[in-house]
Amino acid sequence: MTIITSKSEIRKIRDSGKVIKDIFVWLENAICAGVATGELDRKIETIIRKSGGSPAFKGYKGFPATICASINNVVVHGIPSDKNVLKDGDIISVDVGVRKNGYFTDAARTFGVGDLSDEARDLIRVTKKCLAEGVRFAVAGNRVSDISNAIEKDVRKSAYKEVRSFVGHGVGKDLHEPPEVPNWGRKGEGPVLKEGLILAIEPMVNVGVREVKVMKDGWTAVTEDGKLSAHFEDTIIVGKERAETLT
Ligand code: MG
Repeated sequence: MTIITSKSEIRKIRDSGKVIKDIFVWLENAICAGVATGELDRKIETIIRKSGGSPAFKGYKGFPATICASINNVVVHGIPSDKNVLKDGDIISVDVGVRKNGYFTDAARTFGVGDLSDEARDLIRVTKKCLAEGVRFAVAGNRVSDISNAIEKDVRKSAYKEVRSFVGHGVGKDLHEPPEVPNWGRKGEGPVLKEGLILAIEPMVNVGVREVKVMKDGWTAVTEDGKLSAHFEDTIIVGKERAETLT
């Protein structure tokens, strides 16, 4: 668990998060039909290294790339490739981790490519909103599962399903730290949140069934029914009255 309260340390982790913020701004324009996810991966690695940071995912448990690039039915951990070329109507989740100033930050967004179906657009809207709901509960004195419950409740307002086989997590000194932050659950369980605790909150939402299977490459997680999945993640600092989003 990483708990940061000093101003100088907060400045350091903000600086790590800023690298990811800038990458998402860059991606808004970079993502278009005809672009290969391998290309995005190389460019993002360059952006991170130029900033003075390093890619947190590359080499992590053997993961071969800087970003996870998960298209359509891929839930998380898609491996970027020059063979995976984006098409009009696709959705793509880009997950990226940065280490800078000794601090890890971790975040994801789902982007649309060109014209989306109503369903794809709605799935992105719902997933983004349930992340915001979760973050709203990342306040000192609450418990971890208050975040989980807020996410689940918000997903329940739609016909979609939150993925349960992957969870959010502590982050900061390491990429993955305790506590786990599930995207579902009853309120009032798990550790009490302390001011300064760094968390990566990351709902994944499926249009169809919540079940996921991992492909032969050992990484790529896809929806069991082949339907769309979206993923939004931010690294945040738990605050007294509200959380600060770093990414
Ligand atoms: Mg994460």
